[in-house]
Amino acid sequence: MPGLDEFSLIARLFAPLAARHPGALGLTDDAALIAGPAGRQWAVTADAMVEGVHFLPDDPPELIARKLVRVNLSDLAAMGAKPFAVLLASCFPLGVADEWLERFAAGLKSDCEEFSIALIGGDTVATPGPLTLALTAIGDVPAESALLRSNARSGDDIWVSGSIGDAAFGLLVGQGKAASLDPADAQWLLGRYRLPLPRTALGPALLGLAHAAMDISDGLVGDLGHICETSGVGALVDAAKVPLSAAVRAALAAGLGGIERVLAGGDDYELLFTAAPDAAQSVAALGRALGLRLTAIGRIIEGQGVRVTGADGRTLSLAGGGYRHFGG
Ligand code: ADP
Ligand code: MG
Repeated sequence: MPGLDEFSLIARLFAPLAARHPGALGLTDDAALIAGPAGRQWAVTADAMVEGVHFLPDDPPELIARKLVRVNLSDLAAMGAKPFAVLLASCFPLGVADEWLERFAAGLKSDCEEFSIALIGGDTVATPGPLTLALTAIGDVPAESALLRSNARSGDDIWVSGSIGDAAFGLLVGQGKAASLDPADAQWLLGRYRLPLPRTALGPALLGLAHAAMDISDGLVGDLGHICETSGVGALVDAAKVPLSAAVRAALAAGLGGIERVLAGGDDYELLFTAAPDAAQSVAALGRALGLRLTAIGRIIEGQGVRVTGADGRTLSLAGGGYRHFGG
């Protein structure tokens, strides 16, 4: 499918089917919103993971299950919704070992407990292809207050949670391409790739504080581009302000990749949000209360597109900008 990325595919073939329901948000947000009882809305999202694409074939089954849960909970957090239930459709390779399945289920159980959610349905089939898993997650948010990608306003500060780029370097570790790294840093980065920390406390706490929000799954710059597109605004990012872990700093110093790996690498599952400048103190206080680093990295401006400036004040050019599933 030369020249066709997943976003134009969704926009051309699937978004027209969403037009009948305003809560589908034109298939441009992290989850759909459905009217719930008594002033609530349900937020609903689905994400699939495929062996070799979203996890490595020899990753521990417990962690595969937990990553599947967490990438979905991350989408709900990005709407400001609290998760309560998931449905699992699993396509297990023919001949999968019983021990593998038990470990997978144990991982699922542990995250259902950790995040107080129930597995309420799904499907189980065998496939001649690679292990493929799809999870649907349902959360709850006060009506008309969910955090949308389309609500960024010119003048907003752009914030991110946690540190950026950890998972992209963790993937290099998992692929055996980071042998020069200190083993403790390597393990930590690999953990960030295998087991994201969905910001389930931060998302709901941002209701009324943030304007736009989304989770960073495909890369900071590309994902910020989605906020810009749906909000009809542009963004300026100061690369020097993007929060880096000590392990990523070490990986950069070791020459394992450049800043573009941080800015365009996927799988961090941190929250990216915008808020009015006069909310900055409240956002900072929230970060302290949650014990979570929240960093302002730039500004929403009129116009379109994302411009990233480097330490020397020059514009960085990023080929691509984010992970694309269909080449593009
Ligand atoms: P995220 O990275 O937050 O999971 P995606 O970029 O994968 O979001 O998808 C963008 C939007 O498109 C979401 O609203 C998602 O629900 C929707 N979407 C993706 N694929 C399909 C599909 N095949 N049919 C309907 N909606 C889809
Ligand atoms: Mg998302």
